Amino acid sequence: MEKSKLLYEGKGKKLYEVKDKSDLLIAEFKDDLTAFNAQKRDVESGKGALNNEISTIIFQELMKNGIQTHFVEKLNSTEMLVKKVSIIPIEVVVRNVATGSLTRRLGIQDGKVLNPVLVEFYYKEDELGDPIITDDHALLMELAETQEELEFLKTQARKINQILIPFFDKVDLRLIDFKLEFGKDSEGNIILADEVSPDSCRFWDKNSGEKLDKDRFREGIGGVKVAYEEVRNRIKNKMLGEK
Ligand code: C5P
Repeated sequence: MEKSKLLYEGKGKKLYEVKDKSDLLIAEFKDDLTAFNAQKRDVESGKGALNNEISTIIFQELMKNGIQTHFVEKLNSTEMLVKKVSIIPIEVVVRNVATGSLTRRLGIQDGKVLNPVLVEFYYKEDELGDPIITDDHALLMELAETQEELEFLKTQARKINQILIPFFDKVDLRLIDFKLEFGKDSEGNIILADEVSPDSCRFWDKNSGEKLDKDRFREGIGGVKVAYEEVRNRIKNKMLGEK
């Protein structure tokens, strides 16, 4: 698989075209850490490899459970081969427990269990700071083509949550919330894209409540890499135990 032109560079990943394979891309996970729309930045050596490994395991688990994703195969420590999609510019956030921007915006108590689970849409646009939007905004701005597409995003997000909650529970992690991005493949199927990692999810240790995700960077707690390694080790050991 030969890498060719750099197609796109985001905050956490670079996307490269693949020589002679127009329907595939190589995603390279970066060591850069950013928060608050990149106002806070740092580099954590080895973070890219951890997110590549964690995302690979999660994509495989989701695919095993019938969720279509862009994941094709892990190529090396920091790179995975993915299907080329056209990204739908909507960040789909699923929340099982209130924290982060939800508590700041609405004054809901931090740590409150959300029942029913909350699914929110944000407009993926750095210049505007990824504002929260309604279905009507998404349709008005033609971020999605139809209401059915928006319903599909919500249904998939809830399904993914129902697969991942027990998956992480088995390794003593509470899945607090997470952000998903979807894209359309060449046949028009809407499939899960981007990454699922401690950069895009919140995990709290089931027993101690310790945060094992990017909030350690956002809140300046430190120990970011050790936390990501802990998530990787727990889910990797689980997979090895099941083989
Ligand atoms: O900041 P907020 O509470 O809205 O984040 C909700 C979830 O979405 C968190 O897991 C966070 O890591 C993720 N998120 C993300 N990228 C963004 C915004 C939020 O991965 N641009």
